[in-house]
Amino acid sequence: MTDATDAPDPTSLTTADRLLLVQRIDTEADQLVNRRERLAEREQLAAASGQLATWERDRTAMRGRLDELTVVIEKAEGDATEIREHKVRLEAQMKTVIAPREAEALMHEMSTLDEQTDALDTAELEALEEQSDVDDRLTAHLSSEEALRDAVSVADGALERVTAEIDRELDELSARRNEARGELDDGVLARYDRVRASSGVAVATLTGHRCEGCHLDLSAAEIDDVKDEAAAADGVAECPNCGRMLAL
Ligand SMILES: [Zn+2]
Repeated sequence: MTDATDAPDPTSLTTADRLLLVQRIDTEADQLVNRRERLAEREQLAAASGQLATWERDRTAMRGRLDELTVVIEKAEGDATEIREHKVRLEAQMKTVIAPREAEALMHEMSTLDEQTDALDTAELEALEEQSDVDDRLTAHLSSEEALRDAVSVADGALERVTAEIDRELDELSARRNEARGELDDGVLARYDRVRASSGVAVATLTGHRCEGCHLDLSAAEIDDVKDEAAAADGVAECPNCGRMLAL
């Protein structure tokens, strides 16, 4: 990494040089902040967390279904028991019945009770089959928990390491930035900050007649003006086109 503070003999630097130095540091810091926000590690953590959240939702759904099925099975069993007991009473009653019509009515009622217990038994059997199926799926589902939690933890650790490294670089830049700004006048700094806030890049150089900030050519007369301006202000002028500080 090139260290701008390694520039030869700092006392020989002009205001324009120092401004360019501050700008280089600010640009580098901007790039780091930008990189910190767009890290692949951040996306990987979001993906792993998303997978775990989906897994947890599925587990909750399966457990909920098992609870529902337990209720269905218990109710079917309870209802069928009641109906069978009722039928036993009707069978006892049947033995005392003499009138054929009454016997017929009892027979009919007992046959209805048989249909009801059949239906309940079928419902219970279906619920038991589904319970066994969901139970198998839940067991398989639970077996992937550790891998999913590990993936989140690994992604989290990777993101933490890379952001810590970026933060360390940002701290270093911040120290260099303070040092570089300390060499500049308050008025120059205020102007730099103002132009940076509005134009992003505050300081531009000239290549021939072209301002490297706005990429527009200055006329010969404008070049003479900015040269005069720079001569009077330790190398700093202003681009007549974009208002950036020109470092000459
Ligand atoms: Zn310009």
